Order: sequence, then C-alpha cells, then structure tokens
Amino acid sequence: MNEFELIEKYFNWTGSNPDVIGVGDDCALITIDSNSQLATSVDTLIEGVHFPKNTSAADIAHKALAVNLSDLAAMGATPEYFTLALTLPEFDESWLKEFSNALKTLANQYNITLVGGDTTKGQLSISINVTGVVKKNKALLRSSAQVGDVIFVSNTIGDAALALWKIQQNIKPSEQLLSQFNRPDPQVQLGCALVGIANACIDISDGLEQDLTHILKRSNVGARINLSDIPLGIEMQTHIEKSQDWCLALAGGDDYELCFSVAPENLSKLKKIEEDLDIKLSAIGLITQDEGIERMGGFDKKCLSYQHF
Ligand code: ADP
Ligand code: MG
Repeated sequence: MNEFELIEKYFNWTGSNPDVIGVGDDCALITIDSNSQLATSVDTLIEGVHFPKNTSAADIAHKALAVNLSDLAAMGATPEYFTLALTLPEFDESWLKEFSNALKTLANQYNITLVGGDTTKGQLSISINVTGVVKKNKALLRSSAQVGDVIFVSNTIGDAALALWKIQQNIKPSEQLLSQFNRPDPQVQLGCALVGIANACIDISDGLEQDLTHILKRSNVGARINLSDIPLGIEMQTHIEKSQDWCLALAGGDDYELCFSVAPENLSKLKKIEEDLDIKLSAIGLITQDEGIERMGGFDKKCLSYQHF
C-alpha cells in the first residue's frame, strides 16, 4: 500500500460537515464566516529523510516553514499563524539560536506569527502547522482543472532534486543548486495572485508528474505535456544532455514551485501577473479528456517519485 492509499484507507473520514473540506488538497479549508475560510496544513521534516544529517540549523528552520508556506500558496491563502512541534536529540544552545533566528527571518518575511507548539526529546524532527485565510469558495483546489486549460509551472523544475542527487553521488553541487534544495522560496505571492485566475493548483513537493497527477485524478481529466517546454536551470539542462534522462526533472521532489491550470480566456491576466511579480511562468501543456499524462518529446521511461511507503 503506498502513502496515498494508506491515507485514503485509514484517515479520510472528514465526514459530512458542510463547513469543512478535509483530506485531499494541499490544505484543509474551514469556513469561519460568510466571507472567509481558514486554510490549514501540517508538514513534518525528519533528519535523514527530508534533509541530510549535516544540514545547518538555519537551513532546516527555513525549509520547515517554507514547505508549509508553500501549501498555503498552493491554495491561494494568505499566511496568518503557525505552530511548531520540535523534537530535539539534545539541548544545543548555538543550534537553537541559529534555528530560531532563521525561522523568525522567514516568518517576518511572510508576516506569519508563531503562536504555539510543543518541545520534546528524540530524533530531530520538525513539524509545523500553518494557518492562512482565503476568501470563501475562492481557494485554489486540485479538483477544478478543466479540459482545455493551459498547464503552467513557476520558475524552474528539478534543481533541488539535482542538488540532492549530486550530494548522493559525492559530487559537490553549486551554491545555486544547494540553495534551491535547502532554501526553497514558497510562492505565496503568486498563489494569492492566482485566486480567480487559475482553475486548479498544487505545489510541487514530490515531483512534477506525481503532483500534476494529483490534480488530474481529483479533476477527472488528463494532461499532455511537452518536455521541450519544461523550464530547466542550466545545470539541469546539462544533466539531461549528458544522461539523456529526464526523471530528475519530472519526478524529483522539493521544488516548491506551483503547478496550475488556467483557462485560455485568463491568459492575458496571467501575463500581467507574470510581469507584476517579475516571475517566470511557463506553459508546459494542456489539460485533456484522456486519463493520465501524455508526454510529448521522445522520453518514455516511467519515472518514480518519492513516496514514504
Ligand atoms: P502535501 O504534499 O501537499 O503536504 P500530502 O501528499 O502530504 O500533501 O497529503 C495529501 C493529503 O492527505 C493532504 O490533504 C493531507 O492533509 C492528507 N493527509 C496526509 N496524511 C494524513 C493523515 N495521517 N491523516 C489525515 N490526513 C492526512
Ligand atoms: Mg502540497
């Protein structure tokens, strides 16, 4: 049983409360009044699983909050509050100082307030629960992609996975790649700007194809993507030229970019967002009626994304 079947079988029992949209999207949505919904999500980082053992306290703190902010971004929600559950192997003052400073820096940048948490002793693990706000029924969902929508991704894909791959091969990644891996930029401004413009949205945490598939399954649609349109950094381009293997770009995780679908009539508005936010948005394909992802571009190998089980 994989991670997603496990969740579906044992934990998808939100029930029929009309004020709650539960398991299955980047955040749950809870209606708080006639105008607004809370968006909430929790993500855990475990040493040796989500970050290598020698990662600095500052990088761990940044990543722990950034990946959670990314889930708010995927819903188009504005960050408000977070709680922090910290499990530490030992009391290390300099580690804690560095961790807390980096956490505060990112929290201030996104105007999100730490309101509580829990502290325990054990293997290093960081869980953050974020809460944001979005206008009622305006959140970006995985389930609203429409046939004919254009599929976009922000910035470049696969850089973090390439950094990790290099570390595992004992090749030193460039500073630029390493920072994509350790210091992801959550696309909060983009997510908020896409409200009312994108039909469906997800953040790419587990690999472009696997995360796009979550949109496709929940929207009952398919996709055709063009490999030549996938935005790649220079180092990823070189890696693909050398290896003739696209899997790191298509299935590597930890990008924290947004993948979203936009109806053709909203494309001019999207262009304006791209200019206003000075961000690169690339059209990589189309939402279709057929099931699954059809890849155009002559690379047919099945790429496996990370799953915990
Ligand atoms: P993301 O990658 O965006 O954090 P996940 O793939 O981790 O999302 O989770 C998929 C969905 O399953 C989310 O809606 C999440 O809230 C839900 N989920 C994951 N684990 C559990 C659990 N143990 N109990 C209830 N819901 C869960
Ligand atoms: Mg997500």
